[in-house]
Amino acid sequence: MATRISHWVNGTSTPGTSGRTSPVYNPASGQQTGEVDLASAAELDAAVASAVAAQRDWRTSSLSQRAAVLFAFRELLHERSDDLARIITSEHGKVVADAAGEIARGLENVEYATGVPNLLKGGFSEQAATGVDVYSIRQPLGVVAGITPFNFPAMVPLWMCANAIACGNAFILKPSEKDPSASLFLARLWKEAGLPEGVFSVVQGDKEAVDAILAHPDIQAVSFVGSTPIAKYIYETGTAAGKRVQALGGAKNHALVLPDADVDMAADAVVSAAYGSAGERCMALSVAVAVGAIGDPLVDAIAARLPKLTIGDGTDPDSDMGPLITGEHRDKVRGYIDQGEQEGATLVVDGREGDLPTEGFFLGTTLIDHVTPRMSVYRDEIFGPVLSVVRVETYEEGLELINSNAYANGVAIFTRDGGAARRFQFDVEVGMVGINVPIPVPVSYYSFGGWKSSLFGDTHMYGPEGIQFYTRGKVVTSRWPDPATSSVDLGFPRTR
Ligand code: NAD
Repeated sequence: MATRISHWVNGTSTPGTSGRTSPVYNPASGQQTGEVDLASAAELDAAVASAVAAQRDWRTSSLSQRAAVLFAFRELLHERSDDLARIITSEHGKVVADAAGEIARGLENVEYATGVPNLLKGGFSEQAATGVDVYSIRQPLGVVAGITPFNFPAMVPLWMCANAIACGNAFILKPSEKDPSASLFLARLWKEAGLPEGVFSVVQGDKEAVDAILAHPDIQAVSFVGSTPIAKYIYETGTAAGKRVQALGGAKNHALVLPDADVDMAADAVVSAAYGSAGERCMALSVAVAVGAIGDPLVDAIAARLPKLTIGDGTDPDSDMGPLITGEHRDKVRGYIDQGEQEGATLVVDGREGDLPTEGFFLGTTLIDHVTPRMSVYRDEIFGPVLSVVRVETYEEGLELINSNAYANGVAIFTRDGGAARRFQFDVEVGMVGINVPIPVPVSYYSFGGWKSSLFGDTHMYGPEGIQFYTRGKVVTSRWPDPATSSVDLGFPRTR
């Protein structure tokens, strides 16, 4: 019996009325476990109306009242993270340790937002002109929306909502319809933490709900994370409707491995970053660029590690890698492996073969060597457990390859040479750089964002840029009459 997964409006679970639903699966069994409601424009309208009313009061709450709610939410999330991790695994498929990891990275953003009294401090210039002071304040936008992808059903919403709410906005979440239950768990925790009803809402849905968000006159800003074509659409449509938009897109992250790198360290890092969460991470490494003589030892070291990874149900503590999100996506990833083989790359480890669970959406780990930039395995974002190795002769050749790629989310360099790493950090045209660190997701007090086709808009997600995104600046220029000239004698000398 599939569980009905509904919306969350005005602080309560709200069954859908559109008559449209979408199936939700447990990817480890392949069985349908849920049925999520898909909102109509009218249902979004109702959520926005409740959010507008709630935000009027919420923006008058003091900074310490807001911080108190965030501290309570942080504690609850910390206490209940095991329950949330199990929910994530049951609909996404990632192993429970990965689910716990995403919650921990999401929690960081809540902790950052607890500092809102400090984060919203403005500036002050005394005596900008004679008797004139100038100061700046930051105020909330109103109702803002977040549209999130399937691959981090808790972390990405937390990237957005903690800062948005701390800044005094009401937040409407439109999660992925593939794993929608984590959003409702967060909604209940917000309520338990004391957040007033209507400040955090969940509208489940697909394109219809997204288009209604983009067109709604009472939604001031949209944060999006997902694939590049949809990010571009969200950015263009949302900004044309006069909204502030930040839209993070897809990725093709490279690791440049220099000939002096520690091969074991690089291989361990590349394996965890390429195959963790079955490669369904926007910061997953999908291309290793081997410079010169390190190519053979690197490929051997990666290949030697892959048989040791246990692939299975994410709830089994012995599993290192779970299934892919849907059967359709698994088949698409498999198709890329077929194409790589047809286009002449060398299949070192073939994930289509081997001992895999028979039920569910599983695919093994794949390592493809001698990939060239013209092959589809190199060009496209695969979003699965497939690592390509491109061989180059020099640092310059590797840099040119990375800088020519349309995506520019994350990149890593492996070397023992600090000067080489520094040069790379200067030269590379990518938004987030790791030096011997394979997945350089910035901590919550920096901001997250790629360049080029990995980000539409000019504001990165969370951290200082998140606070900037969810507020608008106001500058006050003030002059007070000299108290000595007051018609009431205040006791000031009449001349100075
Ligand atoms: P997706 O683009 O298919 O979906 C993202 C969101 O957009 C979902 O809420 C979905 O319901 C909605 N959506 C889908 N199709 C739509 C359409 N035609 N019109 C309007 N809305 C639509 O992405 P996904 O498959 O859920 O997630 C994987 C993608 O997200 C990958 O490309 C990955 O790289 C990217 N991603 C990027 C980052 C980042 O920080 N840059 C982080 C996580 C995931």
